Amino acid sequence: MLDLVISLIAPHRCIKCSALGSLLCDICAIDAFTALPVRCWRCKQLSRQSKTCQTCYRASNLRYVWAVSSYEGAAKELVELLKFKNARAAAKIIALQIAQKLPDLPPRTIVVPLPTATRRIRQRGYNQAALIAKELARNHSLRYYDVLLRSGQSRQVGANRSLRQKQLYGAFMVKNNHKAVSNHPILLVDDVLTTGSSLIEATRVLRAAGHKEISAAVFCQKE
Ligand SMILES: [Zn+2]
Ligand SMILES: [Zn+2]
Repeated sequence: MLDLVISLIAPHRCIKCSALGSLLCDICAIDAFTALPVRCWRCKQLSRQSKTCQTCYRASNLRYVWAVSSYEGAAKELVELLKFKNARAAAKIIALQIAQKLPDLPPRTIVVPLPTATRRIRQRGYNQAALIAKELARNHSLRYYDVLLRSGQSRQVGANRSLRQKQLYGAFMVKNNHKAVSNHPILLVDDVLTTGSSLIEATRVLRAAGHKEISAAVFCQKE
């Protein structure tokens, strides 16, 4: 609670140079992040515009996955501030970085946050992916649509890719409001991409509900 109060009243300082005003000043933002190669997110072969290669598309059904930075340095710090220190302002900076990485998307694209465990939302007061997705939708003049729900509380820390996939099976549901946006391309949004299990499970559920064109944008990818 005290943390929350302090985070609301204290002025932000740049995490790199400590200048007052923002969590990341404009000057430090220029080279704050370790840009990832333009590649298939899953097998890491170079690919045009971060398109998923054919093999990995068959395994994931994700058309493109754009990732801004590797999970280190300023990127990691921003994610931790957002997740554990109530620094909602970090979402704006993260969304701006993702927006700069994205090409023009089809205008009917809807921006959908990956759900977080409700227990974590209760602790934190918000879903960090939703904050990022809202900012990103605003940046790109796209519609934000929160159509996914978490149905279970599966633990997934430390599990490897195949185990995580099994644990996550059935973890998400599509809300009834998705019918208003069926046939629209979807851009899934999350803060950190680790094994990709959550993205794949979300994609499976959305495809089962009739959505065909699904891509994702994340801020960081763990190597
Ligand atoms: Zn700075
Ligand atoms: Zn691949």
